[in-house]
Amino acid sequence: MSGQQPAAGPAAWTGAELLAIAGLTPLSTCDWPGRLVATVFLQGCPWRCTYCHNAGILDPRVPGVVPWQDVRDLLGRRRGLLDGVVFSGGEPTRQAALIHAAREVRASGFGVALHTAGAYPAALRRVLPHVDWVGLDIKAPARLYDAITRRAGAEPAFASLRLVLDAGVDVQVRTTMDPTVLSVADVAELTAQLTALGVREHVLQVVRPDGTTSEYRAALAALTR
Ligand code: SF4
Repeated sequence: MSGQQPAAGPAAWTGAELLAIAGLTPLSTCDWPGRLVATVFLQGCPWRCTYCHNAGILDPRVPGVVPWQDVRDLLGRRRGLLDGVVFSGGEPTRQAALIHAAREVRASGFGVALHTAGAYPAALRRVLPHVDWVGLDIKAPARLYDAITRRAGAEPAFASLRLVLDAGVDVQVRTTMDPTVLSVADVAELTAQLTALGVREHVLQVVRPDGTTSEYRAALAALTR
């Protein structure tokens, strides 16, 4: 929780004010393909992926730095110019207030998108009816998941994938090809598995070393020597 109080009176309170927001990008053309959006980065993630370049927003104990009212004000100014809001992170489904924020954004006439790694399927199930598009990270074949997240993850991630597919929500599944863990054959195995599960859009992303740890950058460099 951010500890921030609503700026307006009780009538304006929706619960979204409880979100711990680490950052707000007022305009993005790539976070929701084909849409002009504002992107809200939510604080906290339970995983510590090898290639994560958001290390500063992983700790769930860190309070938010952007009040929800800033998002409200932005949407008020950009009515007719923005298509929607993307909730990203961190892991946005970690925060119970996400559902209130998604509801409020929809009620304001904007679309709602979610970037998630599927760490919390029960929370995802609750928020999905309020979401128009999901960018879901599936990081590896199940047997290699922990090598990337350095926690756990395959079980909740694949459960989340099943939920999204069953809900019929528009979804893009994304995999960052971490060459320190995944071989070309591993990626091909994952693509085949996802296709068999019913995934129609699987996007492979190249690792970006910027913002990652020095250890990870060294591991990447060692692969090219
Ligand atoms: S799930 Fe995403 S935000 Fe969390 S550690 Fe992995 S890459 Fe970073």
